[in-house]
Amino acid sequence: MLQPSTFNNNLLEWYHSNKRDLPWRQTEDPYKIWLSEVMLQQTQVITVIPYFEKFITKYPTLSDLADADEESLLKDWEGLGYYNRIRNFQSAVREVKENYGAEVPEDPDEFFKLKGVGPYIGGAVQSIAFNHLLAAVDGNVLRVMSRLNADARDTTKAGVQKSVKEEIESMMPLEAGDFNQALMELGATICTPRTPKCIVCPVQEHCEAFRDNTVHDYPVKKKKSKKKEEYYNVYFIVNDREEIYLYRQEGDLLKGMYELPKFDVDTSIENIESELGVELDQKKVYIGSDKHVFTHKVWYMESYLLHTTSSNEHFMPLDEVRNVPMSTAMKKVFRKLAADGAGGL
Ligand code: SF4
Repeated sequence: MLQPSTFNNNLLEWYHSNKRDLPWRQTEDPYKIWLSEVMLQQTQVITVIPYFEKFITKYPTLSDLADADEESLLKDWEGLGYYNRIRNFQSAVREVKENYGAEVPEDPDEFFKLKGVGPYIGGAVQSIAFNHLLAAVDGNVLRVMSRLNADARDTTKAGVQKSVKEEIESMMPLEAGDFNQALMELGATICTPRTPKCIVCPVQEHCEAFRDNTVHDYPVKKKKSKKKEEYYNVYFIVNDREEIYLYRQEGDLLKGMYELPKFDVDTSIENIESELGVELDQKKVYIGSDKHVFTHKVWYMESYLLHTTSSNEHFMPLDEVRNVPMSTAMKKVFRKLAADGAGGL
């Protein structure tokens, strides 16, 4: 167990003189702090910076983001992935605008009721914006804490994460926001996964794993199950009017994004025709193959060009395609087509 007083002082002193100059650390606006935390979930700091700057320029207030058109918001988010984050964030800020006078609730119980606000986002925003004594436990913090305590419990277990959160909250100083950020910063810059810089670590004297020379034994994570593999054929269906068939995803992780039609590899052309309501030339032209890795699954995609004389509400002029939100998986397939010289996309 850590000795809070000296540990906290060592950590905070180090943080105050070494923290990185990140754009969301220059604001006290709870909306912007919240936006940054939503972006930082699952995404690296270096990737988030330009997106954060773009968003606070285009949507400088909570109301601006609440009122934004969902399609342009998804377009602006394109490339960050995990699109549910921005959809949930917009639902939540709309609720804040409607029920809390566009002010982010300072009461944690109210804040935790909002869509997409779980223990991490809730703890991070409430501590950084309002200094509530709540921990924000992400992967960096779990790694740091497991090494400091030489804790051999499986950090992927919810019960272990809860107990780490409780330990941090039991030792948390009044500077709660800085303390959470200091732990995260330590994990991101010093206590890194493969090559921790123990020699310059500000809390080395408190670290049981360092003392036992077992740093690389932590954190303990149970083996992840193998990702599910899915195989698809993806079709560029283009008609004489230089329009392409696209549809909007409905109910899964890519909801709202535009997609090329994709089918299981053994789907016949006849079945594709009846599914999409188009007549297709039987001759398909092979474009290339791609792979896209999601958190829990992998798509293997073979792409083909098909010609049709049909048109319906799903067809979009080719030169408009770049203006609509599209998943990274589909963009990869489009790049293949462009590299092939067909379509100039
Ligand atoms: Fe991490 Fe090493 Fe510091 Fe321990 S001494 S907290 S292992 S960087």
